[in-house]
Amino acid sequence: MRKSVVAIVGRPNVGKSTIFNRLVGERISIVEDIPGVTRDRIYSQAEWLTTSFNLIDTGGIELGDEPLLVQMREQAEVAIQEADVIIFMVNGREGITAADEEVSKLLYKSNKPVVLGVNKVDNPEMRDQVYEFYSLGFGEPYPISGTHGLGLGDLLDAVVKHFPEINQEEPDEETIYFSLIGRPNVGKSSLVNAMLNQERVIVSNIAGTTRDAIDTPFTKDGQDYVIIDTAGMRKRGKIYESTEKYSILRALKAIERSDVVLTLIDAETGIIEQDKKIAGYAHEAGKAVVIVVNKWDTVDSHEKAMKEFEDKIRAHFQFLDYAPIVFLSAKTRKRTHTLLPQVLEASENHAKRVETNVLNDVIMDALAMNPTPTIKGQRLKILYASQVAVKPPTFVVFVNDPELLHFSYERFLENRIREAFGFEGTPIKIFARRRK
Ligand code: GDP
Ligand code: GDP
Repeated sequence: MRKSVVAIVGRPNVGKSTIFNRLVGERISIVEDIPGVTRDRIYSQAEWLTTSFNLIDTGGIELGDEPLLVQMREQAEVAIQEADVIIFMVNGREGITAADEEVSKLLYKSNKPVVLGVNKVDNPEMRDQVYEFYSLGFGEPYPISGTHGLGLGDLLDAVVKHFPEINQEEPDEETIYFSLIGRPNVGKSSLVNAMLNQERVIVSNIAGTTRDAIDTPFTKDGQDYVIIDTAGMRKRGKIYESTEKYSILRALKAIERSDVVLTLIDAETGIIEQDKKIAGYAHEAGKAVVIVVNKWDTVDSHEKAMKEFEDKIRAHFQFLDYAPIVFLSAKTRKRTHTLLPQVLEASENHAKRVETNVLNDVIMDALAMNPTPTIKGQRLKILYASQVAVKPPTFVVFVNDPELLHFSYERFLENRIREAFGFEGTPIKIFARRRK
């Protein structure tokens, strides 16, 4: 179930992020309306033919005010650590520079396959210029143009050839996979411990260790769970150094393997911008989400405290309006027992399938209650709706003209669907299709 990981490295301005956006482009547009989530994205899923993989733009990894050379070295290191295949990008208009040679040296030392992409080769006449790049020692240089989307097919063919045979072990459908995300010191490790030490939790002896996380299977009340714990990995200091630059990547990989993501917030320090970004990733990945306010023991427990904090969360995390909020303390263990039932419910809703005829009754009732809008003299007509996927529940509504289904009406339909079927904890997606 692990997807291959591809990282793009190269000195600044060779066009890494342009290529990145091209390769993941379609996915980004789906989530455009979530502020702050996609702007500085460095990790995403991408597809080539029938293969889906994960792509990292190492140029987007922030390293503060370090000098350029240090930054490039660190970025190359991330690529070497994280990726199965590395795309090394150079600029076909500028030839080989000293910085390219620096990066090359690091890549030689790794045993990772490297595919050389020569970018900014915007027209066929320029193709001859790529030959000089043979001297970098990574075999055939692939001419590409990020601006015009040229040559990407050949480049990706070469990349995909290097993918390792991945043991396609399907996750057990009955088991709920979940992970905890949140900034450092929010209490992820403490909460994992608290959950595993609850009454009637039976932890299996065998904990699977992947490259990025420790998987701990356990059973509670007959339900199997697996905690995907990335924080523990860092604490145990096995593979990774303790710098934060890897932690986002690891969190993203954990999110991808999860059914439910627990987004932790520190009650003591309150909500910060980073929390929002991290939570955004979970939402964007289409996972079920439970918001956990940890360290509640540090809050003056006046009557309205919880309500006030909840209001703040709802204001900051509007895109997570479906996520339940659990207030607890990993330290005192207060209310930690309320968390797993929420995980279970969110997971069930995430995988829920509704009957087509009941769905259509709900949609027709919604239409009767709030007639479809007219835009430029044209009225939206909704003919039929159908659930086409689970995890997350995804609906297609067949309409006379998809352009007429505006965000506000879509939102109205989503709310009606939620009221009727109870999708607490999970995002749902609605797509409009033209009925032919
Ligand atoms: P990064 O720093 O490596 O991520 O580079 P960017 O993707 O930000 O691109 C740097 C500059 O090169 C931008 O001005 C891009 O518009 C430009 N650029 C990217 N790809 C191409 C290309 O294929 N052809 C040309 N002519 N310009 C490109
Ligand atoms: P992680 O970096 O997210 O894994 O966070 P840790 O689990 O290592 O916790 C960071 C710090 O917060 C430690 O000093 C914990 O003892 C403390 N901590 C964790 N949970 C709680 C809590 O519920 N209440 C209080 N007061 N402290 C906590």
